[in-house]
Amino acid sequence: MSQERGNNSTDSSISRIENSDNTISRRHSLVLLLIGGLGVSMGLSNCRCQNDKETKPQATEVSETPNKVNKTPERQEIMLGNARFYLEQPNSLPTEKRTELFENMEKAYNKLKDYFGSGVVMLPNNANVPIVIGQVKIESGMVTWNASGVTNSRGELDIDNKPDPKRLLLSNFSESNIAHEFVHLFVQAPILWSQAFYEGNAYAIQNTLYPPDSNLESIDDIASNPGISSFLDFGLDFHSYDMELKGGIQSDVLYRLAISKWEHEWKEFLKKDPNFFKNFYSEIAKQKKGGKVAFSKNELEAIGGSVSAGFNEWYKGTRCLKTIGEDEEAVKQSTILIKSKNILFSCYFQTHARKIDGASLMPPFLSPLVMGKLQISSNAGGQELILYPNNWDNFCALTKLPEQVANDPNLKVAIVK
Ligand SMILES: [Zn+2]
Repeated sequence: MSQERGNNSTDSSISRIENSDNTISRRHSLVLLLIGGLGVSMGLSNCRCQNDKETKPQATEVSETPNKVNKTPERQEIMLGNARFYLEQPNSLPTEKRTELFENMEKAYNKLKDYFGSGVVMLPNNANVPIVIGQVKIESGMVTWNASGVTNSRGELDIDNKPDPKRLLLSNFSESNIAHEFVHLFVQAPILWSQAFYEGNAYAIQNTLYPPDSNLESIDDIASNPGISSFLDFGLDFHSYDMELKGGIQSDVLYRLAISKWEHEWKEFLKKDPNFFKNFYSEIAKQKKGGKVAFSKNELEAIGGSVSAGFNEWYKGTRCLKTIGEDEEAVKQSTILIKSKNILFSCYFQTHARKIDGASLMPPFLSPLVMGKLQISSNAGGQELILYPNNWDNFCALTKLPEQVANDPNLKVAIVK
């Protein structure tokens, strides 16, 4: 075991939650899970972090070569920039699907390269990146990294190795979805200690380069409903590692709405400064070249201010980018019917700020205000109808209501045991 860094009183308390074995308690293997794609209708994407103790795979040396899709059935890899991608399980895709996947990967990579420039769309180190095809919960994609380090007083990890991409997981081969994952993989750094930057930027970039079909109902439409948007106008940010400590937003519904809210706000800022992402990630790329792999929220804010004159003022006034509980701890409860979509939004929770209390460090988190099943009942048409939303997670639910229930002026919402 190498020498520990960041040794202060808060380290051990975080570690104790993770691991009771004191000898390794301050060392974490971190895998960041980033989810791409949109949960359409009530399907919700979510990002989660988890411990991952797998040993680091050895990346072989790769050099930058022109992008090339080999369409022969035997070949199962593609070179993009300084990354070689291959299917972790050979033949996990029929040739046709594999060709589609590689073609879309190439298109997405080139689109990002055209937008940001090739110096920005670059891994910190040459790497071999295994692609895994499959579903993880309700996601469309995910990038994971091998990284280890020690926790500092802000609950962040001081990384002590050069993280390698562990794998790219995809369940959706659309160019747009792949571009989202490539933003995480190539454009951002292995670790950004703010989900509002990390996911908010990735979705804003994705949906700027690939405008979504406005005829499709999406979670973004729900989040942009004025009532819900103003409900979401509070500190929603946390960092990915908080999730491991049961902090952050432990509600799939609310987390996906938070991402939409962040995305919307970043796109609003892009209207003021259309070159913001280009300049911001060009600075990140510069620092990555100098060996930096992890950026704290303070560092991200400072970079924002340094590349854009209007950033600081806009950022200060955008509440949803603040950390949970940072401004004020609050009870948040609301039930909003979106008439045009027959969707009922129900949310009940309390926010808690990050706390350092002696040797313990608590991540910012939400606690449910009520425990039990959410029950929606209606007597419309003289017949009693009771609904139990299957996406209720003791914090929030989005429920698609039958037309007659949505129109019932006496609609009742209750929590039952
Ligand atoms: Zn993502």
